[in-house]
Amino acid sequence: MFRTVYTFILLIALQAATFAQTYRPVCGTSQEDLGIISQRLQQHLADIRNNPATLEERTIKYVPLTFHLVAKSDGTGRINEKDVYDQLCALNTDYADMEIQFYIKKLNYINNTTVFQTHANAFGFMQFQRDLGSINIWVVEDATPAGDGLGTTLGYYTANFDWLVVRKDEINDQTSTLPHEIGHYFSLDHPFNGWDFDPYDPAVHGTPAPAISPGGVATERQDGSNCATAGDFLCDTAPDYNLGFGWSNCNYTGGAKDPMNVTINPDEKLFMGYFLNCPRNEYYFSTQQKEVMQQDLAGRLVLSSGNPRRIVLGTNINTTVINEVPQLVSPIDSALTPGYNAVVVNWNGVTGADSYILQVSRLFNFSILTTEELVYGTSQVLNNLQSDKIYFWRVKPQNNYYACAPFTPTEAFRTSTTVGADDISSVNDWAVMPNPTDGQTDLFVRLQVNAPFEGRLMLLNATGQIVQQQAAQRFEAGEQNMQIPIGNLQAGVYIVSLQTQEGRLNKRIVVTQ
Ligand SMILES: [Zn+2]
Repeated sequence: MFRTVYTFILLIALQAATFAQTYRPVCGTSQEDLGIISQRLQQHLADIRNNPATLEERTIKYVPLTFHLVAKSDGTGRINEKDVYDQLCALNTDYADMEIQFYIKKLNYINNTTVFQTHANAFGFMQFQRDLGSINIWVVEDATPAGDGLGTTLGYYTANFDWLVVRKDEINDQTSTLPHEIGHYFSLDHPFNGWDFDPYDPAVHGTPAPAISPGGVATERQDGSNCATAGDFLCDTAPDYNLGFGWSNCNYTGGAKDPMNVTINPDEKLFMGYFLNCPRNEYYFSTQQKEVMQQDLAGRLVLSSGNPRRIVLGTNINTTVINEVPQLVSPIDSALTPGYNAVVVNWNGVTGADSYILQVSRLFNFSILTTEELVYGTSQVLNNLQSDKIYFWRVKPQNNYYACAPFTPTEAFRTSTTVGADDISSVNDWAVMPNPTDGQTDLFVRLQVNAPFEGRLMLLNATGQIVQQQAAQRFEAGEQNMQIPIGNLQAGVYIVSLQTQEGRLNKRIVVTQ
């Protein structure tokens, strides 16, 4: 299955003296898979000719995405969720004019160094993790496909598994890798089909370009006379012989000539091309490309359940466009926080938001982040702050469809030098026993609860770092007894902290030897 010859590797190898140190971004979709894509595309074009879509059929289709957010086995290195949501915003803008919109069905967190760095050795594991009914997108550190060795693969589509693998650096709102790879997923070829792995070079291929490309596809002419049977088989995309590969700007002036000796004028702004240096918001899909993608999606919707190529459109998903701005409630106005170890930030939720990106920074421009995380709900406990420092914070509201809202205006607070404690009206009294403890037996926590509340028990060390935390739970009114298994704690001072929406309660405990 993976005996594909990557001819472009040979090309790069031959020119290694020139390019050895150069970043050569490529789409890693293999020659074999591009051939499969071409067959699907031809079928779609025939179906479109025989059965043109009517306007009535064109309603927005919400296509589910599963992002597999891969980290090393120790949990480090994973892409931040903010980049994923920024990507969602950009993607929905890119596809807005073809009635295809995307939403995040699932963020699948995977800690596996093999998948993260050399995923081609982990296809079995990945198949086990795939989601049925959505587009599976693997976000990894290195997207090099099986059998590939040179060049920097930004991402690729594989027909065998019918999923996408994309470098984590390419998932954001700046690059156009994901809309390009989803184009392959929906059976689009490159506009330079046939020249994918052997970009046109007059010194190698001669002038004018040969009538048959190195990949065996007819070379498309500038006058359009063979557009339906050459190149990408689409007639509203200009001829291109992979002229964007390594081209440093958005205006091709290389003067390549078609087989009729006519200078060709490639379209630098097609998502499916390799011109990577055009303004991000000017990339587009041609009308025919959109029709092919819609046809491909329509075909996927009617596949039988269990077919890995099937798409199941979302229903009852939150597609609210968020216009309101959340108000940051506390701490604000440079207020001094009660402590520094467990600072609770909270804000007012807005209509349509299911989650928020929270950013905390020592710098007003957020250029270096202390915290950037996805928060469900409207508050978070910050456990990683230093004492006696000014911090800035802001949030961005979003849901799994709409992620284009801006960040709120910034607020600031100063951390105090103490380990803080608050009063919580829901709790009348509480005790932690035994105290002091020898660190060998479980701690017992007894609460007198006035009114039910949601909370979480944590064990912190004297510097405010989390030693252990329990799952959030609901505390009912009345006397509540809980147990904290503490294993073998070293001697010292610890804090048992009860974190709630309202604030937190801290008890200082001493562990003796
Ligand atoms: Zn590609």
